[in-house]
Amino acid sequence: MTDCLFCKIIAGEVPSTKVYENDKVYAFRDIAPQAPEHVVIVPKTHIACANEITAENSRAVADVFEAIPIIAKEVGVDKTGYRIVNNCGADAGQTVLHLHFHLLGGTVGGKMY
Ligand code: AMP
Ligand code: ZN
Repeated sequence: MTDCLFCKIIAGEVPSTKVYENDKVYAFRDIAPQAPEHVVIVPKTHIACANEITAENSRAVADVFEAIPIIAKEVGVDKTGYRIVNNCGADAGQTVLHLHFHLLGGTVGGKMY
């Protein structure tokens, strides 16, 4: 995807503060953090949003979730706890159309639902 911000971040064409990377997943600090620890986790394969997850590409979602415990430990919230958020579509406020999961930690806000 030539015009996708997160594809450009993965490719290193747009700078980011990397937290974690493997061959399937890239994780970086959110530019506008909403919690003391706010990491954006993306599959390296371009999937626009949760609506586009299929049996054929869902391995990318598992790859993200397998990376989450490693990333949580890396930023020091594995013991204290964290929230994983995915926004899909306009009503959820999705602003970047490349599937991503927010890891939000270090917060004292209680539950959001
Ligand atoms: P969403 O609103 O769920 O689509 O999440 C997109 C997130 O990407 C927002 O939290 C933005 O703050 C974040 N973001 C946008 N541009 C950048 C960037 N260049 N580097 C890091 N995070 C970004
Ligand atoms: Zn993309």
